[in-house]
Amino acid sequence: MANFAAGDRLSDKQLRSVEDLNRRILSYYPNADLAIVDKAYHFSERMHEGQIRRSGEPYISHPLNVAGILADLHLDIDSIITGLLHDTVEDTHATVEDIRREFGDTVAALVDGVTKISKMQFKTSTERQGENIRKMIVAMGKDVRVILVKLADRLHNMRTLNHMAYEKQARIALETLEIYCPLASRMGISALKIELEDLAFRFYRPDMFYELSQLVQKTEKDHSQYIDEVKRMITKELGTSSFKDFEIQGRSKHLWSIYRKMQNRSIDYNQVYDVLAFRVLVDNLPQCYEVLGHIHHLWKPIPGRFKDFIAMPKTNNYRSLHTTVIGPGGERIEIQIRTKEMHLVAERGVAAHWRYKERGSINDETAQKFEWLKDLVNWNQQVHNSEEFLDTVKTDLFESEIYVFTPKGDVREFPEGATPLDFAYSIHSDVGNHCVGARINGRMVPLKHQMQNGDTIEIVTSATQQPSKDWLKICVTNRAQSRIRNFVKEEQRKRSLILGKELMDREFRKYGASATKYLKGEMMEKLKKDFGIHDDEEVLVRVGYGKLEPKNVLERIAPDLHTSVARQPTAEDKKDPNFIQKVFKSAAQRIKKSGSLISVGGMDDVLVYFAKCCAPIPGDPIVGFITRGRGVTVHRSDCRKAFEFDQMRRVEVEWNNPNSEQQQERTVHIQVVSQDTPGLLKMMSEAFSMEGMNITNANIRTTRDKKAISTFEVGVKNLSQLNNVILQLQKIKGVMGVSRQSSS
Ligand code: MN
Repeated sequence: MANFAAGDRLSDKQLRSVEDLNRRILSYYPNADLAIVDKAYHFSERMHEGQIRRSGEPYISHPLNVAGILADLHLDIDSIITGLLHDTVEDTHATVEDIRREFGDTVAALVDGVTKISKMQFKTSTERQGENIRKMIVAMGKDVRVILVKLADRLHNMRTLNHMAYEKQARIALETLEIYCPLASRMGISALKIELEDLAFRFYRPDMFYELSQLVQKTEKDHSQYIDEVKRMITKELGTSSFKDFEIQGRSKHLWSIYRKMQNRSIDYNQVYDVLAFRVLVDNLPQCYEVLGHIHHLWKPIPGRFKDFIAMPKTNNYRSLHTTVIGPGGERIEIQIRTKEMHLVAERGVAAHWRYKERGSINDETAQKFEWLKDLVNWNQQVHNSEEFLDTVKTDLFESEIYVFTPKGDVREFPEGATPLDFAYSIHSDVGNHCVGARINGRMVPLKHQMQNGDTIEIVTSATQQPSKDWLKICVTNRAQSRIRNFVKEEQRKRSLILGKELMDREFRKYGASATKYLKGEMMEKLKKDFGIHDDEEVLVRVGYGKLEPKNVLERIAPDLHTSVARQPTAEDKKDPNFIQKVFKSAAQRIKKSGSLISVGGMDDVLVYFAKCCAPIPGDPIVGFITRGRGVTVHRSDCRKAFEFDQMRRVEVEWNNPNSEQQQERTVHIQVVSQDTPGLLKMMSEAFSMEGMNITNANIRTTRDKKAISTFEVGVKNLSQLNNVILQLQKIKGVMGVSRQSSS
């Protein structure tokens, strides 16, 4: 494609010698220390001596050209040396120690990382992507350059893939499409991504690739005339103002992106209208908007297609204005406008920050700009569950994004579907933990509200707020979810500890003894050993969770007490006998009869009572409180009374199968305010019976201003049934309001 502007793509010139490489380095780094590059080249050449590539060339041609690609990305000398050495540890008798001795710690660590990735077996199916990328991130450690070298390695292998056996080509091409292209894209290195995609396309679907390239070639002449025409018009328009230093690029989009468009929309090549893309490069930021004005003056913009990635840069740091206009001949054309500096970042992404002058460790600014990467590395170290990580990588790496503002006007980026909770946790875990809602564009919204592109979010917090398990369902970022999970775990542990202590005290008091005296010493050590418990607190925590019976613990750590006769129960004991059994045991039989409706802290057989004040029904957000002698009382989480309880006695509860038809009916009061007209009552009761609900009681009173207030007591199976009937009632003409009554 003749119209590609220079600098757009990487150079495809083969390097033949280290002198070629040196020339390329000097082109952007005039004072480079080439002695060390020479040393690395000769070390590598010596190590690979006698090895031949499939192309018939000596092996050194591969590392030399990998280094060449890295130089093309204007990377630092450490990266280039790593490119030269990247296969020595894997394919020759050189060791990481040899590399360290000759080239220092940094290069040794880089080569080590690249070697680890090379040894990995990648599984190429969509579900495995996350796992693959996780492995790469582990290998990368904290240095992004490992991935950059690996990408350059892959690019050179793809450029020379035609020497590979045919069966291998398709497999390697698919691996490139599934793993390396998304990675290059996420790193923002579009020059690399585009070349990798088209090479992979060529070997993965040769039939489609050659068919499409022919089609593109046929239209190339028309296209180049069209491109010239557009360029001429833009130049003329900009010439009317003071613009001097600007550059216009026009080109066909790359084949893979055209192919993807055809696939996604099931259309032919002829129907892909935005095959051509234009770019205007200017000197400074205000000029970008100025050019935009001129373009929109020249051609009509298509609504909804304007994107301002300058005000709201992408996470991979891409900045540009995008607009689609109706160009000459009624063709839709996409035009990107950015400064030359932004263009460099757009083409080189994370690599742009590793230019030679930043030799050494990653600087603060860069670290901040690539925060997502740091997050991923940190998070990977925290979480050992591969499935959880997979979810993260999926949302963090592949999902579409929305951009929202802080009240100060800073932009933050989230996956689609993110809520104020995600936003709050992105600020600080304290803000997240105390978040009660948010003001979006000045309007109060609940936690579960989904943020939209362009929203301004202000988080509202409350000192008494606490995260709950339900929150996991209403946030999408891994940062929020892992913080909530940690909090919930920690809280449950704290509560279990207190409860466990209390339960043990009770058990010992029966024998007139003190638990603290026995909860140490030889017997205690033996108990811990038998149960694989490491600290004393953990014993109490397990008692609190119900995993250990206080009675059994006492039997084991105080056998002497156990054989003695328990003293007579005191008045207090009588009032509240065998608390533990009530909470964690005898409940089992009662609950199991009806299949357990609720699970408490993950356990099903716990005695639960439904609070009368708020009468929760399956599907309602709920919260439980351990009540003395009465097991766990379940309230709706917004119940006012629930807040009056000691929050330390709070336990996580959730519905088992809230939408099951098998649920027992629970009583709910529904109040309907309507006009006082005949026939309305009949229609209301019909609405209930349509939903299969029985009215067990009804109370109707009229007001002076001719309104009827009807209260129905009905049996409800679950929240969705209730919501349905409320909706039906609201539809009745003459009904002004329907509400569920909190308290009878
Ligand atoms: Mn290699």
